[in-house]
Parts: sequence; C-alpha cells; structure tokens
Amino acid sequence: MTLMLGISLAGRRVVLVGGGAVTGRRLPRFLDDGADILIVAPILSDDTRVLLERHGLRHESRPVRVDDVEDAWLVHTATGDPRVDAEVAAWCESRRILCINASNGAHGSARLTAESRAGDVVVGVMSDSGVDPRRAARLRDAIAGLLREGRLPLRRRRRSAAGRVDLVGGGPGPTDLMTIRGRRLLAEADVVVADRLGPADVLAELDSDVEVIDVGKRPGHHPVPQEEINQILVDRARLGLRVVRLKGGDPFVYGRGGEEVAACLAAGVPVEVVPGLTSVVSVPQAAGIPVTHRGTAVGFHVVNGQAEVTSSTLDALRDDSVTTVVLMGVAALRKLVSAAVEAGVPASRPVAIVENGHTPQQRTTRTTLGRAHLDAEAAQVRNPAVIVIGEVARAGLLLGVHEEAGETVR
Ligand code: SAH
Repeated sequence: MTLMLGISLAGRRVVLVGGGAVTGRRLPRFLDDGADILIVAPILSDDTRVLLERHGLRHESRPVRVDDVEDAWLVHTATGDPRVDAEVAAWCESRRILCINASNGAHGSARLTAESRAGDVVVGVMSDSGVDPRRAARLRDAIAGLLREGRLPLRRRRRSAAGRVDLVGGGPGPTDLMTIRGRRLLAEADVVVADRLGPADVLAELDSDVEVIDVGKRPGHHPVPQEEINQILVDRARLGLRVVRLKGGDPFVYGRGGEEVAACLAAGVPVEVVPGLTSVVSVPQAAGIPVTHRGTAVGFHVVNGQAEVTSSTLDALRDDSVTTVVLMGVAALRKLVSAAVEAGVPASRPVAIVENGHTPQQRTTRTTLGRAHLDAEAAQVRNPAVIVIGEVARAGLLLGVHEEAGETVR
C-alpha cells in the first residue's frame, strides 16, 4: 500500500542523480514547485542541459557520492544503471531521506504520480501494485479532460477570501461552441451573471445553489444598467465568491467587457477574460459566409448599427473588396441604407441578414443594399441578427456559381 501525499518542495533541497531523458522529463515538475535543485551526473541529455542552463541549476559533473544526498529532503535517481540507483536508494533509506527510484521495476520509498492540474485542483494518479506509467497517464488524461470541461464538481465548498471575477465569452449559443476554459470556470462559479444573449443550456447544468443573476432583463423588461452590473460583480467578489460574467460571443466585442474589467481593477478585484467566438465571424459563417475570401474580400469592417454612420463605415461600404459586418443593426437598417446610398455605395451590393445564428431558429435573408430595409421588413427580421454587406454575401459564393449570370466562375 502507498499513501499519496502532497508535499511542498519550495526551497527544499532535491537531488537528481543522473542527467538522462527521465531526469529531463521530470525536472520541470521539481522546478515548478520551487525546489532547491542539485543535479549529479557525468553526462547530460540535451533537454536536461537546456533546463539546467535556463534556470542556472547547480550541477556536479561526476558520478554520485554518498555525501551528495546528505542534505536532501528528496532524491530522484535515474542513472540508467539499476545497481547505482539501488545504492543511492539504500543511502537514502538509512538516512531517512525519501527517494524516487526511476529504475525499471524498482519503487523506491517515494513515487511521482501522473499529475494534472485544472485551475487550483491537482489530481495525481498512481497504483498500489506494479508500475504502469501508460495506464496512469491515460487515466490522468481522462480525468483531466473532465476537469477541464467542468464536468466534475469543482466548486469550492469552503468560502475563501479570494473572490474573483471571470468574464467568459459564451460564443453564439450552443454549449459546444464555448471554450473548455469557460466551461471549467462555470463549474467553479458561485455566482453567474448572465445576459439575454449567450449560451443558455450551460445555466441549466449549474448546481441548484449557484446564484444566477440575469442582467439582460428584469421586471418591466429593462436591462440592468452597466453601473449596477459592475457593482454586482465587485460586491460578490468581495464576499469571497467566484463570479462568472457570462456573455454572448466575445466579452470584448460590443460586450462592455472592458468597462467591467476596469471596474474590477479599480476595486482591486482579480479579474480575467476568457475569449469567445464572436458573432461577427461565427454567425455569417453559420450561413456559409466567410468574412474574408481570397479574391473577393481582403478584410472586414465591423460596426455597431445603433451608432452614427461614420465616414470609415461609408469607405468600407464603398470598397468592394471589404466586407462590412453590422451588429445590433436591425432597427437602424433604414438609416444605414440611406446613408450608404447617399454616399454613392452601389445599391446592388449584396447583403445577407443572418438571424439567430447557430440556433435551430437560424434564418438567412439575402437581399441587396438598395432594398435591404424593405426586404428585412417584409421578412420580419428580428434581433439578434448579423448583417453582412459585401461581395461575400452573394448567394452561392462558395459553390463557384454566379447567381445572376447563372454561370460558373473560375
Ligand atoms: N459580444 C457579442 C456581441 C454583442 S452585441 C459577440 O462578440 O458576438 C449583440 C449583437 O450580436 C446582436 O445584436 C447581434 O447583432 C449579434 N449576435 C449575437 N449573437 C447572435 C446570434 N446567435 N445570431 C445573430 N446575431 C447575433
């Protein structure tokens, strides 16, 4: 039987005997823990030498002697010679120093586990019987995968002083278009502050005692003002809670994520941002529209439809090699169309309006700039929708078919 123990090696002497591949592979684990490392080896593998130089480690370039282990808390022996490893292990045993013996079939008084980390959780795998590193690694990887995806109960049960806020980009809707990091942070969250847009299914998976605050709507259907959202994030984090601010798409694309980060920083609350697939790119993509396309569009210009139509937007609209992507643009489409036509943008410029991208309700309306507002009205286009203006919005683009001419373009 073996007792699995978490030990801290920070500042403690660890002696690594042998400088081959095994030492090179394991050295980073001791380095990560801040051990005071001494390597004793007449020959070094390239990996070991690189680490040794990069971290300025102490190195004795000769065969091991008994006095090398004397000051150690832990010894790792991997000389490639089982007799030497056994001798080192025996020296350690008589001095009550723990020793990891990497020789085939040997155990030593200590063993490294197959280890994985997810956030602040450390999982180690080992076996009571014979050493089987591949089995341990496979098991470790399987558990690590579940942890990373937040599919195991990661939430802290004991409140700590270390509250924090994570702004998580939820992508355009489906759970499997969220990042794995975002899923894990959700699984760790005590509070989730959610929007109207963004993945909804993940909210249903939360523990029943996770507080979910929907700032997208409240009685009277008014969204919660930004100031108040900032305050909610800061106040909850200061209570020691882990707060996830879940947003549709990417937090830094028309998500006011910057303001929330600034509010946290100003309040001294630790904050991080997890990117998400922005609807700017992923919603057109859902309708088969690439925002750039070799030979058709060299770049794309993104605008908020509710804002004033700027000269740079008119420039982009006039340029037939640039795609213009409009978010929050349904209500303001008429205003955009008249500004564009007045500025001399060809009324024939292709337009695609993609509603509810990546959801079962997804619908694409194809039209042209001149009559986009009329066709949108007739089709009763509603938010959320992304409006794509430019040659890439032409139907059949990727089929190599020119719709009007009905001919294949080479
Ligand atoms: N941060 C988000 C954008 C927030 S602004 C992102 O990066 O995607 C909200 C606008 O995003 C909506 O008005 C709409 O234009 C667009 N949008 C978000 N999700 C959408 C979806 N699933 N389908 C269509 N448009 C969407």
